[in-house]
Amino acid sequence: MTTRRLLLHMCCGPCAIYPLRTLRADGWSVHGFFYNPNIQPCREFERRLEAARTVSEREELPLIVRDDYDPVEFLRNVVFREQQRCVYCYSVRIEAAARIARKSGFDAFSTTLLYSKLQKHELIEEIARDTSRRIGVPFIYRDFRQGWREGHEAAKMMGIYRQQYCGCIYSEAERYHRGGKKDRPPK
Ligand code: SF4
Repeated sequence: MTTRRLLLHMCCGPCAIYPLRTLRADGWSVHGFFYNPNIQPCREFERRLEAARTVSEREELPLIVRDDYDPVEFLRNVVFREQQRCVYCYSVRIEAAARIARKSGFDAFSTTLLYSKLQKHELIEEIARDTSRRIGVPFIYRDFRQGWREGHEAAKMMGIYRQQYCGCIYSEAERYHRGGKKDRPPK
């Protein structure tokens, strides 16, 4: 029997641990794909990429990295639409994953964005399902949030960098206005 190959979009290292283990337990041969032009500033991008590389090494996960870091392009696409910025942010990353999955012959794709309890879970699912139909590659949905604690503990044990905000400069500023809530996109 041929093993089915899945491309897993990784938003960072810590969020990838539980989804990776779950998908492998389901029989998928998983490859990671790091593409996150939303992360600002550049030093933060580097720290999250480094954590993703550490998870990749420790878990023997082949990793594809798109490190064409262009915060200006990201900001141009969300400025004056700041309250809706997550739609663009999710879409651009999910679409990139779906296109690479299709081009490289993967059987399906998924995303670690479905792991965070603080993200807009239903919106991510909706965008991914729509992208899957448009690009023509199956999307695997799992509610990875149920493994939040397990993933969190594993990340702590690995000693990898765990971010304090969602990613863009807006979320970095907002964490100070929301009682210190971490990793939270706008309402
Ligand atoms: S809050 Fe998070 S999901 Fe929303 S635009 Fe910023 S980085 Fe992207």
